[in-house]
Amino acid sequence: MPPGPRTKTNYSARPTRNQALADPIRFAPGIGPRRADLFGRLGVERIRDALYLLPRRYEDRSRIRPIAEVRRGSTETVTGVVQAVGLQRTRRGMPVVELILRDGSGHLFAKWFNQPYLVRRFRRGQRLILSGRVGEGGIREMVNPEHEALDAGDEQIHTGRIVPIYPATEGLSQRVLRSCLYHLVLAHAPAVREYLPADVAAAHDLAPLARALQDAHFPGDMAAAEGARRRLAFDELFLFSVGLALRRRQDRARAGIPFRVPSALEERALASLPFALTAGQVKVLGQVHADMARPQPMNRLLQGDVGSGKTIVALLAALGAIGNGYQAALMAPTEILAEQHWTRASALLGPLEVPCLLVTGSVPARERRVALGRVRDGEAALVIGTHALLTDEVAFGRLGFAIVDEQHRFGVLQRARLRAKGAGDPGAGTQRLRAPAMPLGAQRDATGCPLGAPWAPDALVMTATPIPRTLALTAYGDLDLSLLDEMPPGRMPVETVLVGGTGRPGAYARVAEELRAGRQAYVVCPAIEETEDPAIRAATRLAKDLAAGFLRGFRIGLVHGRMAFAEREEAMRGFRAGRLDVLVATTVVEVGVDVGNATAMAVEGAERLGLSQLHQLRGRVGRAGARGICFLLVGGEPGPEAEGRLRAMVEAADGFAIAERDLAIRGPGDCFGTDQSGFPPFGAADLLRDLPVLEAAREAAFRLVDGDPGLRRPEHAGLRATLDEGLGHRLALAGIG
Ligand code: ADP
Ligand code: MG
Repeated sequence: MPPGPRTKTNYSARPTRNQALADPIRFAPGIGPRRADLFGRLGVERIRDALYLLPRRYEDRSRIRPIAEVRRGSTETVTGVVQAVGLQRTRRGMPVVELILRDGSGHLFAKWFNQPYLVRRFRRGQRLILSGRVGEGGIREMVNPEHEALDAGDEQIHTGRIVPIYPATEGLSQRVLRSCLYHLVLAHAPAVREYLPADVAAAHDLAPLARALQDAHFPGDMAAAEGARRRLAFDELFLFSVGLALRRRQDRARAGIPFRVPSALEERALASLPFALTAGQVKVLGQVHADMARPQPMNRLLQGDVGSGKTIVALLAALGAIGNGYQAALMAPTEILAEQHWTRASALLGPLEVPCLLVTGSVPARERRVALGRVRDGEAALVIGTHALLTDEVAFGRLGFAIVDEQHRFGVLQRARLRAKGAGDPGAGTQRLRAPAMPLGAQRDATGCPLGAPWAPDALVMTATPIPRTLALTAYGDLDLSLLDEMPPGRMPVETVLVGGTGRPGAYARVAEELRAGRQAYVVCPAIEETEDPAIRAATRLAKDLAAGFLRGFRIGLVHGRMAFAEREEAMRGFRAGRLDVLVATTVVEVGVDVGNATAMAVEGAERLGLSQLHQLRGRVGRAGARGICFLLVGGEPGPEAEGRLRAMVEAADGFAIAERDLAIRGPGDCFGTDQSGFPPFGAADLLRDLPVLEAAREAAFRLVDGDPGLRRPEHAGLRATLDEGLGHRLALAGIG
């Protein structure tokens, strides 16, 4: 029971079936089709969802003060009867709704500015609760207080207690929402079955689930609310982690390919490099080799700052697989980056006569068909592309090694889908994948793979975005981690300069200086909206302005995401070959573009970009020994928050420190684009502050799955069921479980 005292409803007398939790919300008493629609907008379809519609915050209305006793200057909650209400205008003509509220002890004035429609909400004789700051003046007055109408018997729901404030939606007032939830929680929360094994709940001092759901909505005190939140957060993170642990186990149980690495092909490529690998690269390549040699599939995250040399490590490992007779795939988040990988890979693989193919959306149809045929018959040894690789028409003959670059741009699901393209994977469109496959038998024998068994390709995912630990444990929780923590020799931190409006000419003068010294420069025009169009227009205009102004006489090129493949490739090639001095770009250069001679960068409207993004961007300059310089140009008034953020860029060279700050400022969604990145949609858990909960939940989950991989024990039956329904379904959306 919610801790509200006696209630006149008899819902609790109704026999509760667990089944009722799965009923559509419109069947609940007091919720018809219209309200059900509104609930739908809040993501509530079933009664169970309603129990998990958690308050955004609470308001302590447990202390209603008699009006005569309110303290001026402090925030108070009062209830009373409306004595008078009217609409006035200030001398300037602004509408003001004025109201007098009276209780047994006295009366209080309330005013709302600029919300004339409120006048229709109040009427004389109505019972009202007001919560707000009492003015310091002579009369008792609240300006713009929170307000809620009360009916007889409302006390135990809307006042006199700690009151939940829910995420709002048009047409569903807090009061209605709270009433509905009160009755739903009362009737159904006690029927929610505990699924957490008793030893886990005890070890982590967690409240029973039914209790926690009640306390989350209608807590007796704030400690109960926090206890409830911790329990529900634990649940989310625990279920998520069980999903990960199961998936990881399944993955390990599948046959991988025991590659013989390094292959002769790989050694030849290594010998042909114009530089020696850094100690860090050697270490990471060793870890990758060890995974590859094992008969289980590899699932490894390679994390390393921008320019640390991840790509070459990945390509060498891919050559290891190719040398064993398998295909390798490399998926990049943008066409420009895919094209660049392709150019660089071709330079490395060409002399070794290893065929390397590019598959992106903008390769012309005819060429594409031919290319896809070569992917299917296994002739294309290394296939590089964008998301286009994930489409159904792309089928691999014998994919053995999958690389995903800049993983944070892709979701967990996408990663899984690329891997599922390995021939013989029992998931995803296997028939089509298997049909045209190579004569596998003999080859499999040669690699020691069990005959007739399906295999999973090894997966190496790379990211330059240092990921704080909470996110690493969730989004990448099923991966082993390699860290490339050493830069190639001679790399110096990029000098970063924050420039306000008046400093622009000076900044571009400095850029021009670099250009005159034979260096090259990027000018970046970030996309503001989701669509790139305004940024493209801005970049186009900027390129013209610069050519006529600050950078007159230099050869200026333009790239953006909307250009045709050939056109863009032409500009990129021109820049790489030094036929262009300046590349004006939307943020497409952000990831991975690598031109050693570029030493200067100007980022226009830098205040609009996240810190991690800026860090990636500036990593594009000063890659080949010379020190790079990056100007962060701030348009208009940046405001203290933006300025503080950008100052951090100037001061910190370390990508990790920057990512942590970015996360703290913007939250995981904005930092990483939650929707696409496969970060699970947690409701109660807060990844910024729940690291201890996450670690505990993860530890418990992995231990449980280790002890009972099939979740067959009777005490895990509830857990199994929960994974399939309820919370589990939300996690399934994220591709887990
Ligand atoms: P990342 O993918 O980690 O951002 P890249 O693989 O693109 O980095 O490497 C950045 C640049 O450094 C490339 O031009 C690459 O050729 C060069 N590079 C990589 N490893 C070394 C090394 N060991 N010594 C010198 N240069 C290197
Ligand atoms: Mg890279």
